Amino acid sequence: MSFELHRPRSLDEALTLLEKNEGAHVMAGATALVLLMRQGLVRPSVVVSLRDAGLGGIRAESDGALWLGATTTIREAEESPLVRSFCPALAEAFGHVATVRVRDQATVGGNLAHADPAQDPPPMLLALGAEVELAKAGRKKPRRIPVEELLVGLFETSIEEGEILTGVRVPPLPAGTRATYVKFLPRTEDDYATVSVAAVGRVTNGALMDARIALGSVGPTAVRARKTEAALREVALMPGGADNGRLTAAAALVRDEIDPLDDIRGSAEYKREMARVWTERAVRSLLS
Ligand SMILES: Cc1cc2nc3c(=O)[nH]c(=O)nc-3n(C[C@H](O)[C@H](O)[C@H](O)COP(=O)(O)OP(=O)(O)OC[C@H]3O[C@@H](n4cnc5c(N)ncnc54)[C@H](O)[C@@H]3O)c2cc1C
Repeated sequence: MSFELHRPRSLDEALTLLEKNEGAHVMAGATALVLLMRQGLVRPSVVVSLRDAGLGGIRAESDGALWLGATTTIREAEESPLVRSFCPALAEAFGHVATVRVRDQATVGGNLAHADPAQDPPPMLLALGAEVELAKAGRKKPRRIPVEELLVGLFETSIEEGEILTGVRVPPLPAGTRATYVKFLPRTEDDYATVSVAAVGRVTNGALMDARIALGSVGPTAVRARKTEAALREVALMPGGADNGRLTAAAALVRDEIDPLDDIRGSAEYKREMARVWTERAVRSLLS
């Protein structure tokens, strides 16, 4: 495995290197890229490390949005007081990634760009309506797209040749917003999810408004469950009350909104059923 390694000191320098070296690969925490290279699935002759390119950092924006720079490590995001106060469930989703050792190295941008459908942050970011920014040499303004448009297939994104993902922006959350992330992992604590569910919504007078549900590990990409969301409109949770039936029926719709595969974590049918169960649990925890 021999390649030319560059460590640019700025985003502009990194973009210029990509422009000059067609087929060059970007590297952030290297936790996924090195494995792909070892397996011979990726054979770059030029690698551009983003480690010193100044793309880290977490900040609150003037409109109340949260910005996470691409090379912020997953551990920094998990532990950030800013992320925790903005949305505790987002910090928890970062905290579900693998082990501390991996979280210390893997980055927020690398996680999104890797586009493994079993990863933890993407469903939470989808449910929160997050967007990413993509820079390219010669472009005056970055291209900003929703995370949903970034994740286009199994390990496949809409990042163009020469583009670098510079960070992710989570829009301000309306007052009363609640969010939760649940990860079903029956094997070991540090495993990828069998099924994961992120749920976001506002609770007004005991009723759920603007529910957004996204799932991981149940198809080629993390996915929004829009029919389930529509059926959850204004569901109220009253123990033993009539809306319990509506909630159960809404969660059952998720079975047909996903496309899981049979694998070592279970059959497709098992995952459909677990998606239903964990969607219902996630929504109940929003309302409790
Ligand atoms: C043993 C193990 C267990 C794991 N378990 C989990 C888990 O349970 N949940 C979970 O969510 N994740 C898990 N991960 C982490 C995850 O799957 C990826 O390895 C990690 O998030 C990739 O981040 P990175 O910064 O290391 O990216 P890298 O390995 O550096 O890069 C990954 C890909 O993204 C591209 N890339 C990176 N940064 C950018 C950028 N800024 N712009 C454009 N392209 C970019 C690279 O070119 C490469 O194609 C696990 C990893 C390991 C090794």
